[in-house]
Amino acid sequence: MTLTKKNLIFLGAPGAGKGTVSNLLLKSVKLAHISTGDLLRAEVAAKTELGVAAAKIMASGNLVPDEIVAGMVRARLAQDDCKDGFILDGFPRTLAQADLLDAALKDISSQIDAVVYLHVDEEILIQRLTSRLNCRGCDAIYNKVFMPPKVEGVCDKCGSALYQRPDDSVETAKSRLDVFARQTEPLIQYYRDRDLLLTIEQTDAATTVAKMLEKLR
Ligand code: ADP
Ligand code: ZN
Repeated sequence: MTLTKKNLIFLGAPGAGKGTVSNLLLKSVKLAHISTGDLLRAEVAAKTELGVAAAKIMASGNLVPDEIVAGMVRARLAQDDCKDGFILDGFPRTLAQADLLDAALKDISSQIDAVVYLHVDEEILIQRLTSRLNCRGCDAIYNKVFMPPKVEGVCDKCGSALYQRPDDSVETAKSRLDVFARQTEPLIQYYRDRDLLLTIEQTDAATTVAKMLEKLR
């Protein structure tokens, strides 16, 4: 399937389902998936200089500095697979990052076609975050309560062990939601003003993807 709107931003609080919805959408449309959280976690796992610095910030639930994240995204957007469309999952997260993104896109004569805002109530976000499980071997995401794997602690897709992200503890999850409210929520109005915002109210991932496909086709 091809979309008319194919350069996308997924905006939403931690736990809103940006990653889960991306993975599901990518089964039917071919887009590059750019998750700054995944890119950062790869740096952390590889113990690069950037990764070591980022690990502490991420563990506290705060945001990694704008220039660092924007630099990673700029490099990723220059890669060939982004020409046919991309999902920016978890970026931009501040107004400064939105400006850096605009500059990066302008340099490659590209632009954003739509910003999908996944809206989920706060109580549900906390429940989801603190019961979330991630795969060590691939990018699969599960949930102990809402979306359990077939075998406890094991990935359905690749058989690797599942783990809880250190920043998915109750305390850190709450502070990440605060960070979202203070630093990221202003982007909703920013993109609404530019007539790019598409809001989708909380439902299961399959329904969300169906609604999205309808609006982006
Ligand atoms: P979630 O959306 O569930 O919070 P992510 O995997 O997107 O999870 O992000 C995890 C952490 O990585 C964030 O709490 C933050 O520390 C860092 N991070 C990810 N994306 C960005 C970004 N665009 N700007 C700054 N920090 C980021
Ligand atoms: Zn897996």
